[in-house]
Amino acid sequence: MSYSIAIDGPAGAGKSTIAKLIAKKKGYIYVDTGAMYRAMALYFIEQGISASAQGKISAAAAEVEVTITYENNEQIVWLNGRNVNGLIRTEEVGKMASASSGNKEVRKKLVELQQALAKKENVVMDGRDIGTCVLPDANVKVYLTADSRVRAVRRYEELKAKGQECDLDVIEKDIIDRDYQDMHRELSPLKQAEDAVLVDSSKLTIEQVADAIIDLCDKGAE
Ligand code: C5P
Repeated sequence: MSYSIAIDGPAGAGKSTIAKLIAKKKGYIYVDTGAMYRAMALYFIEQGISASAQGKISAAAAEVEVTITYENNEQIVWLNGRNVNGLIRTEEVGKMASASSGNKEVRKKLVELQQALAKKENVVMDGRDIGTCVLPDANVKVYLTADSRVRAVRRYEELKAKGQECDLDVIEKDIIDRDYQDMHRELSPLKQAEDAVLVDSSKLTIEQVADAIIDLCDKGAE
């Protein structure tokens, strides 16, 4: 049986940084499920489909192919055979991902892909519904959150480091709006699984959070 660690939480809580670090320390595979929703969203944007056109989104989701491979421990997302890693980390794609991730066809396709990966490999998987829907039997479940201002500052610094112009208040508002959308959708909304451990990363370092999660793994039956 493969081992799985599920990390869910709102945007910018540090899920991917922490999941990557844990995967490295444990020798597991890091599965970034948000990147899959982003790849689909990129396709909808490229097809000129608007976020409110749910019928078109369903039809497009049925025909698009999203696959995942790993190179030097890095996840590569392929959209119809094209490596889109360099195109999906924009605010535009993030917003479209949030708007289209409530679609049934989109979720069905990506959840199947995620479950198939976790069946084959030991994984640290992050997202919004991993502990609640994708891997309900995950060995360790964490709900990682942080104050919205703290999350906004982290994103602001990331964007600044990449040389992008940005406004802290706008980033915080976008984060709050996206969380609201993710928490209030009908299908698999973002919420803490009943058996997930709540971790607030506002005042903790990346190392401290990663170590706390590894401790949870060590305490459980591995
Ligand atoms: O985590 P990231 O910001 O890359 O996710 C982009 C969007 O994809 C989220 O706002 C959410 O709407 C959606 N998502 C999801 N379920 C997941 C992962 C991401 O609905 N497991």
